[in-house]
Amino acid sequence: MLKNDKEKEKILITTAIDYANDVIHIGHAYEKILADSVARYYRKIYGKENVYFLTGTDEHGTTNYLAAKEENMSVEEYTRKISSLDRKEIDALNISYDRFIRTTDPDHVKTASNLFEKALERGDIYKAEYEGFYCEGCEEYKTLSDLDEDKKCPQHPNKQIRLLKEENYFLRWSAYENALRELIEKKDDFILPENKKNEMLAFLEQGLNDIPVSRPKYKVPWGISVPSDEEQIIYVWYDALVNYYTAAKQKDMWNEKTKIIHFVGKDILRFHALLWPVMLLSLELPLPDTIYAHGFINLKGKKISKSLGNVIRPSDLVKKYGVDAVRYYFLKHGPITEDVDISIKHLEEVYNADLANGLGNTVARIAKMAERSGLSFEPQEKEFVWQAPWSAPISKFRVDLALQNIWRMLTDLDKHINENEPWAIEDQEELKNVLSKEVYQIRKISLILEPFIPSTSRRIQEQFFKDRIRSEEPLFPKL
Ligand SMILES: [Zn+2]
Repeated sequence: MLKNDKEKEKILITTAIDYANDVIHIGHAYEKILADSVARYYRKIYGKENVYFLTGTDEHGTTNYLAAKEENMSVEEYTRKISSLDRKEIDALNISYDRFIRTTDPDHVKTASNLFEKALERGDIYKAEYEGFYCEGCEEYKTLSDLDEDKKCPQHPNKQIRLLKEENYFLRWSAYENALRELIEKKDDFILPENKKNEMLAFLEQGLNDIPVSRPKYKVPWGISVPSDEEQIIYVWYDALVNYYTAAKQKDMWNEKTKIIHFVGKDILRFHALLWPVMLLSLELPLPDTIYAHGFINLKGKKISKSLGNVIRPSDLVKKYGVDAVRYYFLKHGPITEDVDISIKHLEEVYNADLANGLGNTVARIAKMAERSGLSFEPQEKEFVWQAPWSAPISKFRVDLALQNIWRMLTDLDKHINENEPWAIEDQEELKNVLSKEVYQIRKISLILEPFIPSTSRRIQEQFFKDRIRSEEPLFPKL
């Protein structure tokens, strides 16, 4: 259980929403699988109705506008198409979101515009002239120290950095510097993992300048208008961050009784840890409890990108290896704290070792012996063992360590089988005694696997939660 969780009644879990300029690839998909397994876990503890899991697409701003133009499509049509393709990718991974939000959804447009107007009324947003370097890939103003020696954005070396001078609305970011520092220092789990917390504190040390939260419409024609000023468009990041509030508010889940957890990639932590809280503070709205920033996935030592031509879609992996193999691989070996390097070869090795030989083999062995014994194994209650030692790492969202614990239980179970040699036991009572222990243990493991590999978990449950256990097709055929 998490600290301070006793007073929380509900859980809100979000992923970042993806730009609708291109369909998501496995790099983006990791975050969905991670958040999904945590959401499924919390549903077991808090009840299905008390957990809300949100994902979606970020559809406004220059990036999406230019991508649509390149395809000769209207931006409405283009973002609708990408959004629905993204959703297919996410569905292929069996992601149990409660809402797939699009920032073009009417309720979101209304909410973003309302919040902006309220901040304007309170004086935390004001109009002024601005000059600065803008990266259209990041949709963000850059300081000189953010840029390479040749004044290029490190994330977007192919894009021209532009010096913009324009009238914008500004958020009084500088006024919240101390509040932010205090928040990050005092609230233990506000930023995870720990090293990311220090990064944010270091950024604050440089001091905050007020930040533009609008762009002139003649430069960025695609977005939500500033309510009282039709010439200005709300900055895409201000708009996008509000999506969490839009969806949660409707379910009465943006409040002190809800534990709010944002999963994001490390590249957008600054927006979530430093900008979003200020937007909320300026409106006196509750803050998120945890912002978890994971690393990046590289493919055989290279960044995954369209321009490098090494993009892999989640649905392609799922077609080849099955949804749970893909989920397992990324949950166990994904960039939970640091960047990771993956390869298809590594995925296949892990599949064979952990799934075909590990879990699959142990399940098959026990089923075969139970069937052969002719004995009956009355199913125990499906009592959950969610707050047991195996799950302790989940309090810090370390699903990889939780899986390690479960696989250790599988190894112990295998050891129990090898040491007791049920196949050689002739005494029926003794055989029943030994096999019952093993059947009980595999039933227990099948239950706790549910948040991570739900389809496999259900298959094992269907096979084992009955009196007469039978052998079935292998869970993970060897590659
Ligand atoms: Zn950039």
